[in-house]
Amino acid sequence: MKIIKLRDGKERSLLKRHPWVFEGSIASGRADSGETVRVESHAGEFLAWGAYSPASSIRVRAWSFDAAERIDAAFFERRIARAVAVRARLPIASDAMRLIHGEADGLPGLVVDRYGDTLSAQFTCAGVERWKPAIADALLKITGLTRLYERSDASVRELEGLPSIAGWLRLPTGTDDGTEVTIHEHGWRLTVDVARGHKTGYYLDQRDSRKLFADCVRHFGVRRVLNCYSYTGGFSVAALAGGATEVTSVDSSGPALERATAHVALNEFDAARHTAIDADVNATLRRFVDEGRRFDAIVLDPPKFASTAAQAERAARAYKDINRLAFMLLEPGGLLFTFSCSGGVSADLFHKIVAGAGLDAGIDGQIHARTGAAPDHPMTVTFPEGEYLKGLVIVKQIA
Ligand code: SAH
Repeated sequence: MKIIKLRDGKERSLLKRHPWVFEGSIASGRADSGETVRVESHAGEFLAWGAYSPASSIRVRAWSFDAAERIDAAFFERRIARAVAVRARLPIASDAMRLIHGEADGLPGLVVDRYGDTLSAQFTCAGVERWKPAIADALLKITGLTRLYERSDASVRELEGLPSIAGWLRLPTGTDDGTEVTIHEHGWRLTVDVARGHKTGYYLDQRDSRKLFADCVRHFGVRRVLNCYSYTGGFSVAALAGGATEVTSVDSSGPALERATAHVALNEFDAARHTAIDADVNATLRRFVDEGRRFDAIVLDPPKFASTAAQAERAARAYKDINRLAFMLLEPGGLLFTFSCSGGVSADLFHKIVAGAGLDAGIDGQIHARTGAAPDHPMTVTFPEGEYLKGLVIVKQIA
């Protein structure tokens, strides 16, 4: 067993059960990519078992803080079983859910989503890459499913020196290799292509916010909805289910919009109630302001503008701009569902940015709700980096 010895004083973070060891904290020791190492304090006390990653600045990710724990196939089975058991107790109104959420489930670098009868997994660091066969076996054994697709084509793998990989990891021979799956979210039917969709296929983290949106559309009697960064139209279907009469989806991905249009038909809504616009959101918002368009509810769910706090300033300007334009396009009493999934922008900072946008637009509002990722995307108390998605539901003040 290889030993990684930390510099004096650098044991504090592991003692607080934060799972990362940065390159600069290490005094001595090295290992192969993904190899299990014993991390010790400068004085030689056991701190954690972890996976070594020679290429990454996060040099070790902890598997366990228990000296007696063995990191073997049975360890991965126990961790996966625990994560699946947690989900079984959650009120998830869908047959699609996140089963493994990385560090928060004690499995750094592993994301597994279940879409109906299909699992879609992303292995983003050296440790889970090395244990991939054992993890795949455990996933099938514990879920009882047979179809597992791999989406290890995220750019973060470059930081670990790992190549991009996508394809079936487990698929019974002679069975259908189709990658499109139909899921049921709050009673709506949605399709997910695990091979071609973003990330593992769909944005499950917004499930509860889509339900809240449908409910608000109904309660507030919303008619005209603008869904910005719509992807495959989850919030658009929610709006139609809530009774909206005119829903506009805007996204810069043609295939995502085609799927959004298909989802309107799949849920038996009149196609005339939905318009898909393949364009940049910022430019579209400006055009709508020029044209004097007005909406009763607007969703702003942009992609990540900042992954780290260092990029927060540029991201802040981008968030402020779209939120300012959205405030201008809303009718008095209208609803703004605005989100940030940037880990580098805290909930506090996001609130300030949106406040600044309202001020610039000369518009005030009341916060009706705050939202976060659905509970199958948990956050642990020891790993604050796990908080990424935050949302504000704002009712624009009636003049
Ligand atoms: N709200 C969606 C998820 C949105 S993900 C849901 O509930 O499923 C972000 C989306 O923004 C992606 O579909 C991406 O194609 C789109 N996008 C990224 N940059 C964009 C831009 N400048 N203009 C329009 N769409 C953009």
